[in-house]
Amino acid sequence: MRAGHAAAVVLPLKRGDNAMAHGRLTGVSWREWSSEPTSMVSPAGSKTAARMMTAHAGLGPASSLRIGEVSLSVLGRARMYVCGITPYETTHVGHAATFVWADVAARVLRLAGAAVEVCRNVTDIDDHLLTQAKRDGVAWRSLATQETYRFERDMAQLGVVRPAYEPRSRDYVDEVIALAAQLLATGAAYERNGSVYFRGGEIASRARLDRERAIELARVNGGHPDDPNKDDPLDAALWQRSVGDEPAWPSPWGLGRPGWHAECTAMSLATFGPSVDLHVGGEDLAFPHHVYEAAQAEAYTGVRPFARAWMHVGSVLVEGDKMAKSAGNLVYVNEVLDRYPPGALRLLILSRHWSASWEFDEAGLEHAASELESLWRYGAASGDRDLAEHEVASALLDDLDVPRALAVAKEAGGQVLRDLVALLGLS
Ligand code: ZN
Repeated sequence: MRAGHAAAVVLPLKRGDNAMAHGRLTGVSWREWSSEPTSMVSPAGSKTAARMMTAHAGLGPASSLRIGEVSLSVLGRARMYVCGITPYETTHVGHAATFVWADVAARVLRLAGAAVEVCRNVTDIDDHLLTQAKRDGVAWRSLATQETYRFERDMAQLGVVRPAYEPRSRDYVDEVIALAAQLLATGAAYERNGSVYFRGGEIASRARLDRERAIELARVNGGHPDDPNKDDPLDAALWQRSVGDEPAWPSPWGLGRPGWHAECTAMSLATFGPSVDLHVGGEDLAFPHHVYEAAQAEAYTGVRPFARAWMHVGSVLVEGDKMAKSAGNLVYVNEVLDRYPPGALRLLILSRHWSASWEFDEAGLEHAASELESLWRYGAASGDRDLAEHEVASALLDDLDVPRALAVAKEAGGQVLRDLVALLGLS
């Protein structure tokens, strides 16, 4: 590790992740046999994209995609980092919402002409995963591997284009140690009793949160503000000493394991270098996870901003409560897909702004399924492509306004609607 070279990124790039072998679970249903991984090139990379881009280019180049308040220029390469799953309770509809929206963002960026590279990590060293493995009496590696395969199968069935890179935390322990060592060397972190903490004194203001509110959120979301080792409750473990039978790796500070935020910082830096164009994750990751991930990356590289734009996808609720294992209200993707086509679930997820939280229920699914049928009916009719194509492309490039794009395309009918249905992965 080179200390004192603030702009140096020395984490090695790993290129072998997407070459990972695909396991198959036993007892699979007919649907699972048809779930070969989707290719890296989405349908949007083919005729659909070309046609819509041509239409858009007629009124000026599609030089940017607006995401929230940020206009992302789409020239050349677009690096997307998507915070992936912790593989112990996959895959519920809340997960699906995040990854379907990330998939649509990537497809639209391709539509606009960018060379999109998506990295979606697997956080397979994690407190929740270790607790679940212990409860089930299975090895954490085994639980993580099986749940990751289930997740990949569900994503394939949902038509989510396979990311180019799928790093797993367990393969990036050395990179986390390198990150912690450099942050120690520059004074951005300190070591205490075998753990290394990132100094989080600036975190609340960075997140534009009142300090007390930040501590409260950190407590709810795995930040351990009461850890007696910390100088400040908002400091975050880059590296934590392993206790008891927790998994442990050797480090300069003794046996330990990576801190949660540091895992994503290390995987992102190792895959894309010092910055990404679009960072996606569920809204519950906005704080503390993403704020620390970015602060740590910027302290390591000196490059700001770490992410040019953020997409925090709205939560899925069940009777007013966020869909979560702790709430006992999970609805699994494979259960939904036993009864509905994947396009219906995708359409339901996409029927609102990406940042909006929404209530999941059976009536919504039924409505989405019948709406999907009606899209096919309108698509089968002849339509007026010239009028609508530009407007559809404009809607998609304007903060991924899928509802408006669908309304315009449905009104026009015919080929423009069929193109949009294919682009959104509804077919
Ligand atoms: Zn993450």
